[in-house]
Amino acid sequence: MRKNIVAGNWKMNTTLTEGLALAKELKAALQGKDIKCDVVLGTPFTHLASVASELKSTKIGVSAQNCANKESGAYTGEISVAMIASTGAQYVILGHSERRAYYGETNAILKEKVVLALSQGLKPIFCIGEVLEEREAGKHFSVVEAQLSEALFDLSSADFSKLVIAYEPVWAIGTGKTASSDQAQEIHAHIRKTLAAKYGEAVAQNTSILYGGSCNASNAKELFANADVDGGLIGGAALAVDKFLPIIEAF
Ligand code: PEP
Repeated sequence: MRKNIVAGNWKMNTTLTEGLALAKELKAALQGKDIKCDVVLGTPFTHLASVASELKSTKIGVSAQNCANKESGAYTGEISVAMIASTGAQYVILGHSERRAYYGETNAILKEKVVLALSQGLKPIFCIGEVLEEREAGKHFSVVEAQLSEALFDLSSADFSKLVIAYEPVWAIGTGKTASSDQAQEIHAHIRKTLAAKYGEAVAQNTSILYGGSCNASNAKELFANADVDGGLIGGAALAVDKFLPIIEAF
């Protein structure tokens, strides 16, 4: 059975001291609570080891937000999957629209990153989603299909089963605009159907598909109530415990 997951994406926010304090505060807030979903914190690279160590004895997972598409070597400034795994992190966010738009990450590059992440036992949280013009032109279904097939569909079914998918309409990220509950369910169901056509119904049913894009305490319950929405990838609202906790508790 697939898991419900609420993952925070801190992006390029918080110093190490601030990030560690945020992780500690969340850990304390969740202590003794009966939480109905997995919780993951996507921190900057510089925070991974400290946050992973702080959260070691808890159920809160830790994620990087990117990795290199090379294994090791003369790639100044890059961070490899082995380095990430060595921090104790278990996940890596890949294909975020900000990486695609600002750093030229193509599906071909992302495909390499996914394979490398899996080789180190990291779980990719793989982001897909359309920009506003594509949504307005009714192309959102074909856009996510292409992102899935070009980046992921050479994976074996066993490897694909290790992934988490995050549907993030780019027009909703950090904009305060959210996909309506119906829009989210419609495209999540389409993504699951696309996965079923490629990998079969069992793999599709076992894949967690998260929604991302201005998800917050007031809309999380309605979004997560949809049959094919298995949680959220949360940006802005993951930076404060009083905003993030109610999203976790929406399950
Ligand atoms: C994100 O960047 O993954 C995201 C969903 O951001 P926000 O929640 O701020 O829209």
